[in-house]
Amino acid sequence: MWGFRSPEELEETGASALVAEPAELLPLFERGLLNVDALTRAFTSRGFAFSYFPTANEAARYIVSACAGKSVALGGSMTFKEMGFQEAFADSTEVHWHWVTKGEYYQTPDIYLTSANALSESGEAVNIDGTCNRVAGTLYGPKQCMFVCGINKLCPDLASAVERARNVAAPKNAQRLGTRTPCAADGKCHDCKSPARICRALVVHMGAPKGFEKCEIVLVGEPLGY
Ligand code: SF4
Repeated sequence: MWGFRSPEELEETGASALVAEPAELLPLFERGLLNVDALTRAFTSRGFAFSYFPTANEAARYIVSACAGKSVALGGSMTFKEMGFQEAFADSTEVHWHWVTKGEYYQTPDIYLTSANALSESGEAVNIDGTCNRVAGTLYGPKQCMFVCGINKLCPDLASAVERARNVAAPKNAQRLGTRTPCAADGKCHDCKSPARICRALVVHMGAPKGFEKCEIVLVGEPLGY
């Protein structure tokens, strides 16, 4: 057991120099060391491929290699932005990202890259979307889909993963976008009915969709995105 019980204790170790939200790491310390074998079983038993990389740099190298020579599309993702994409892709890879080319949504690439708002240790991926191009790309159309998630998004079970998506990820995205929603003001979900609501679909991947040649979960042992 690591013994960190409060954000203040983590702050004293200098954690804020490494991660933006040290408090997000507390559940990981409470649960103890990562059991990669158990996670691998949880996801692969549901038809996902599963890979774990301790660092974002290792994961980025793996993703770039997997995408070489293929057409690639990205959903909106702070995770990929923090990992240095689109710059990380070699010139030989055809990349479509609407964060780079505004208004361009390419839904039938060889590989669709996205993160998830949360993963469960029971092997599910949870995403909330507004425009819904991102969740659409994870359901049907591309040949392959790859979810890339930092360790801060791993939750003990499906209920806590949905809770994270609704009450952590969505409010932070609303704050990033500056939406006129109550969560942008106080960081909590109010299940608003605002016209500016960014939560229009809640998608739980209970298994790898049948239409994909491969649907992979890539877990990174560092906090990424939100
Ligand atoms: S439902 Fe409304 S209040 Fe809740 S996170 Fe989404 S936009 Fe914010």
